[in-house]
Amino acid sequence: MSASNRKIFVTNALPYANGDIHLGHLVGYIQADIWVRFQRMCGNEVHYVCADDTHGAPVMLRAEKEGLAPEVFIERVRVEHMRDFADFGVAFDNYHSTHSEENRAYAEDIYRRLRAAGMIETRAIEQFYDPVKQMFLADRYIKGECPKCAAKDQYGDSCEVCGAAYAPTELRNPYSAVSGATPELRSSEHYFFRLSDPRAVEFLREWTRATNADGSRRMPPEASNKMREWLGEAGENRLSDWDISRDAPYFGFEIPDAPGKYFYVWLDAPIGYLASFKHYADRVGLDVGDFIDPARAAASGTEMVHFIGKDILYFHALFWPAMLQFAGLRTPNFLNVNGFLTVDGAKMSKSRGTFITARSYLEQKLNPEWLRYYFAAKLNSNIEDLDLSLDDFVAKVNSDLVGKFVNIASRCAGFISKRFEGRLAASDAAALAPFGDAATLAQLTRAFNDRDYSLALREIMRLADVANVYVNDEKPWELAKDPAQHERLHRACSTALNQFRALAILLKPVLPQLAAQVEAFFGVAPFAWRDLAAPLPAGHAINPYAHLMTRVERKQIDALIEANRETLSSDSRSASGTAPASAAPATPAAAEAPAEAASPISIDDFGKVDLRIAKIVAAEHVEGAAKLIKLQLDIGEARPRQVFAGIKSAYDPALLVGRLTVMVANLAPRKMKFGLSEGMVLAASDDTGEVPGLFILSPDTGATPGMRVK
Ligand SMILES: [Zn+2]
Repeated sequence: MSASNRKIFVTNALPYANGDIHLGHLVGYIQADIWVRFQRMCGNEVHYVCADDTHGAPVMLRAEKEGLAPEVFIERVRVEHMRDFADFGVAFDNYHSTHSEENRAYAEDIYRRLRAAGMIETRAIEQFYDPVKQMFLADRYIKGECPKCAAKDQYGDSCEVCGAAYAPTELRNPYSAVSGATPELRSSEHYFFRLSDPRAVEFLREWTRATNADGSRRMPPEASNKMREWLGEAGENRLSDWDISRDAPYFGFEIPDAPGKYFYVWLDAPIGYLASFKHYADRVGLDVGDFIDPARAAASGTEMVHFIGKDILYFHALFWPAMLQFAGLRTPNFLNVNGFLTVDGAKMSKSRGTFITARSYLEQKLNPEWLRYYFAAKLNSNIEDLDLSLDDFVAKVNSDLVGKFVNIASRCAGFISKRFEGRLAASDAAALAPFGDAATLAQLTRAFNDRDYSLALREIMRLADVANVYVNDEKPWELAKDPAQHERLHRACSTALNQFRALAILLKPVLPQLAAQVEAFFGVAPFAWRDLAAPLPAGHAINPYAHLMTRVERKQIDALIEANRETLSSDSRSASGTAPASAAPATPAAAEAPAEAASPISIDDFGKVDLRIAKIVAAEHVEGAAKLIKLQLDIGEARPRQVFAGIKSAYDPALLVGRLTVMVANLAPRKMKFGLSEGMVLAASDDTGEVPGLFILSPDTGATPGMRVK
């Protein structure tokens, strides 16, 4: 590592404000967060920011579909994203939005500087236009028959059947995927960033080759190889100019002096890094100029580091540094690039239930630090895909975290509390030596700094093995039986707890929550890297040991997969008779045996069903669902449960609000086409068909939300 007290501005790629955070996203965020936490433990100054990427046609169309103004829609998504990141311990100093005044100001300023530098030009292009929707169509919104194999319903850029690539104008019988209308070719003036300008090509060639002032690389070797491929040989020019404008209607920032023309979303997305940083810097009294002005950044030695996924390397390695350079701003010191996530060796899949959202993982009560540990154990500094093998996840978390790490404390802490008034003895220096070994610590420091976390965790688990061998050799539980071994018991348990403490310090960047619990157990200030230099001394008082981490069970993983499995539609699920989201309407199974009581069950079987009094605090129609009403049910929990109930034929949502009813509260949450259903409302219906309608249950007066129904 270079000089102490580095000053680093760190960003993560901005998630698009059009969908949920899933485990694939989390790879890069967890990777960056671990790095940030490690740097801070070393005493470095780190400013870690992110934002939602909010502009463009997909957000505009999605908001329109939901009947919301885009500003309202993106704010809802931003709040959800912030909550997901916080719950996985990804602790940004600021989480902003690209639809912000800071971003508008930076985007306009950078554009004006690029224009003044002669890097912007305009030219007319021909593009498909939707005459019904009155908008130009991006390739993804045009469909038609493949010009090569005539397959129907193919997208505007390539055929999924024969693999052919083509221009949208080559499609046969093209139609707009937005309105279904036949698109017309129209000409429009577009703004281009002149990436093919020899100055830009020359700059990028040089930038890719050069290192930072301290000799460190600017990106992983695979990324610079990719860059060389894009740039070609010296004298060659393979780059095309970059179309940075879109025509109205578009959700974004209007280009200065160009009414009706908007910045393409990818123009202002990375500028969002600077905007979020400015928003944060103004709040905490930091001078942005020290981080973005090239001369001042060089003088103050500040660094700018981006963590991105490999799918957006092109934007970050070509457009972004060139934009910054020709706008007179500092360029990044380092691009960390992560690969994609696969689950059990395959691409994440909604039908297989392996397209797992961050929220569903939390809702299954899975510990976020299990995932942080597992990702870290597989992450290195290369651009490799990372596989989440579900069996391996269970085995690794249980064997490493519970079996090797937490067990050290759980086997020794009780003796200190019960026999020695909670005070440590002097530790066995020889047994602690491997934990303070200079070469080992230097290797671990380098591994974390170089983002080679898999190497770091292998080394930490090797140390955990050393501690376990020590405990097994000393056998505190045997020593405790012999009064003559009283002092040895004291020393052995104190030594093992100091070994455990060293492991907790080393694991803190990966497991911040667990480390905080360990800090509380030892009654010490937050761990810093320098705390590895010395053990806790004789006489140090510890607190009673509280359970630190449970084992993960395979059935929890199975429930997670089930919760993420998406079937074709909620209606088809209802028809199958297995719909957990609502009891009504009558299922075919029930119709076959009307009025007859089902076979007897034991009181224990009945007790497995957690029935609760629920207050309907909100009810609304679900667009596109023929039978469903979306309910928010208060059962005395911190937030209401969302349940999709098939009672639309019988109830007006407005008349349901405020009513009490009965719900099944422990049904596994189910992801439906329209959202997550977190339980089931009970309703009666006459299966003979003589009495039409559906009847939800109501308790007698006096019942309150959350009461158990037995
Ligand atoms: Zn084809």
